[in-house]
Amino acid sequence: MSAGVVSNTQKLKTANLGFPRMGRQRELKFALESFWAGKSTEEELQHVAKQLRAEHWSLQQRAGIELIPSNDFSFYDQVLDTLVLLGATPERFGAGKVTLERYFAMARNSRDQTAMEMTKWFDTNYHYLVPEWSAGIAFKVDTAKLIGELEEARSLGLETRPVLIGPLTLLLLGKGVAGFDPFALSEQILVAYEEVLSQLAEHGVRWVQIDEPIFATDLPARSAAFVQAAYARFAKLPVKLMLTSYFDRLGENLSLAVSLNTAGLHVDVVRAPEQLGPVLAALNAEQVLSVGCVDGRNIWLTEFAVAERQLALAAEALGTERVIVAPSCSLLHVPHDLRSESKLAPRLKSWLRFAEEKLAELVALAEADRATAEANAVAVADRQSAKSSINTAVRAELEALRAEDFRREAVYRERQKAQQEHLGLPLFPTTTIGSFPQTAEVRKHRAAFRNGRESLAAYESYLREATEQCIRTQEKIGLDVLVHGEFERNDMVEYFAEFLEGFAFTENGWVQSFGSRCVKPPVIFGDVSRPKPMTVAWSAYARSLTSRPVKGMLTGPITILQWSFVRNDIARQQTAWQIALALREEVRDLEAAGIGLIQVDEPALREGLPLRKADWEQYLDWAVKAFRLATSAVRNETQIHTHMCYCEFDDILPAITALDADVISMESARSGMGLLEAFRVQGYPNEIGPGAYDIHSPRVPEVAEMHTLLRKAREVFSPRQLWVNPDCGLKTRGWPETEAALVNMCAAAALLRAES
Ligand code: GLN
Ligand code: ZN
Repeated sequence: MSAGVVSNTQKLKTANLGFPRMGRQRELKFALESFWAGKSTEEELQHVAKQLRAEHWSLQQRAGIELIPSNDFSFYDQVLDTLVLLGATPERFGAGKVTLERYFAMARNSRDQTAMEMTKWFDTNYHYLVPEWSAGIAFKVDTAKLIGELEEARSLGLETRPVLIGPLTLLLLGKGVAGFDPFALSEQILVAYEEVLSQLAEHGVRWVQIDEPIFATDLPARSAAFVQAAYARFAKLPVKLMLTSYFDRLGENLSLAVSLNTAGLHVDVVRAPEQLGPVLAALNAEQVLSVGCVDGRNIWLTEFAVAERQLALAAEALGTERVIVAPSCSLLHVPHDLRSESKLAPRLKSWLRFAEEKLAELVALAEADRATAEANAVAVADRQSAKSSINTAVRAELEALRAEDFRREAVYRERQKAQQEHLGLPLFPTTTIGSFPQTAEVRKHRAAFRNGRESLAAYESYLREATEQCIRTQEKIGLDVLVHGEFERNDMVEYFAEFLEGFAFTENGWVQSFGSRCVKPPVIFGDVSRPKPMTVAWSAYARSLTSRPVKGMLTGPITILQWSFVRNDIARQQTAWQIALALREEVRDLEAAGIGLIQVDEPALREGLPLRKADWEQYLDWAVKAFRLATSAVRNETQIHTHMCYCEFDDILPAITALDADVISMESARSGMGLLEAFRVQGYPNEIGPGAYDIHSPRVPEVAEMHTLLRKAREVFSPRQLWVNPDCGLKTRGWPETEAALVNMCAAAALLRAES
């Protein structure tokens, strides 16, 4: 067989690894929220879920997918489901059968109990619930959901391939409670998995998809022995395993993965096309290869020429009967379907594929359907040649960048002096992170404006009122550096994306973030540029209202990049720098409008980190440069702030320092300033505001409590370095608690000043 052509007579098998759960119109979200609000019964919720599963199976079947997953549905999260399956739910929620009520108690905070911790699923924007490993876990297997879905599909005439999260991934994604060593549970976990797999075998299941995305990361030393023992035991059971890796290369874990000798191996050749050759060479005789050649995480059409070549290579090496065509990972990370998008430009739309359209691509690839392949080649060529995605001026500007474009004019010491003279701030200046409460009223006006019930003039007049009110309140509280409040912003990325060229927006392109929460990321399809100022008018207006300094507020290049669907036709670094150039113009315009302090938020800096440590340095290098490109074109006396939150930053402190922001504010109240230890050891040269209180709850912290925290910070930083601010933006809070907390915070700063 010649490369690039899979002959018609030898059709390949197709598999899907998981389908979006929410439903075409986010039916599951609304059913869940109605159930949580007590407005519908469990039966009604179960009914919606069952209908969605039936519809999703049926559309996969109609598309022509042969290996259709079951157990990919979830009421909240697949990691929590796996814990329920194994009887490994956290001890603190009690033992015994997990009712739906208990299930949601683990997933969602209530008045009496904090839910399980939530964190990002690898490098996606999906969040899973973190297993809590401790000695007393019961490990009482409950296959009701797993077998239930299998039988449910059978009653619809469908034989599915159930999906499980594999033991190594599950173990390593969890945390030991109070220093408990998760590996101490190895034996119990394996017994539980054996029980699950045996039950599946008894129910006549022949293939199981066992997801081990952890293989795309650097594995701790004990992993190899653990998985080898595990899969050696699973091999004795009469069920075939498709060991499924995704999100990056197997890399140095390839020989380990192959040595487990599962009946099949799935690899992601979208993220890591270079691994196909080594994988083909490494496979054991008879092992089946599932080739993840359709991007399960991004929304672009597959380049058939590339995928066909990959499939042909695999077929040539293994024979067609040992090759399966699959998406790179579960389609959970892309929206449901394109059909309901009526407002997207038709040309752009012809370059996009959502979950349903990706199924069609899989089948066309497997069948080597010439008509589809030709149409694909036309669309791919059209996308490549589209002038609408290329901005030659921006490209020329990027080409022409010199080292000094990434550097402030003077070093920090000199800037600090200039800023002190210019701004005249007291020691321990007080400020906030940007947003103030987005009340029901703000949202009501925005909704009315968006669907045409309120005129632009009326909406803006309301926003001016809200901004003025916010400035007066901050003056009354006695804050030193004010903000305009961000009332005009729906979302910290979408707001900017709407001003920028190169971005498009879907109507219904929702992707699950966690539980019932979905996000609708903007689509970056072309070179990014800024036709006109984005924030200057609001910042300038706020400044005109007060004699105190007002801080301008921008979202950083990496955060805009991370929270969008990105291009796959140019490097992420290129797009990040294009966004940075656009922000650089905005920063200049803010400065020209008399804004003396400008904050560029980068909460997503850390989550952009590659899965493998070996790849970190390269990413951090261009990410830091993106920030510096955005912020370096200002005078010495203009003070650049940045803000970060959501996670631990200890391991990237050198990169954070390299941003060379004049002031950084960081989340730290929740950890009792745990972050400080890292700063104490590694040092930090510029100014810093470690969050003085946690904004995630309405609780109003006492003056003494914040004073104590700030004193801890005072031991690590010099008085000239320290700022006083909350952990994060205040948009999710109400006004009464916000005012009270900030009054206390300013009082704590005053105590600190009195002591120095
Ligand atoms: N300036 C933003 C705000 O205050 C920052 C949000 C964030 O850190 N996620 O809302
Ligand atoms: Zn924040």
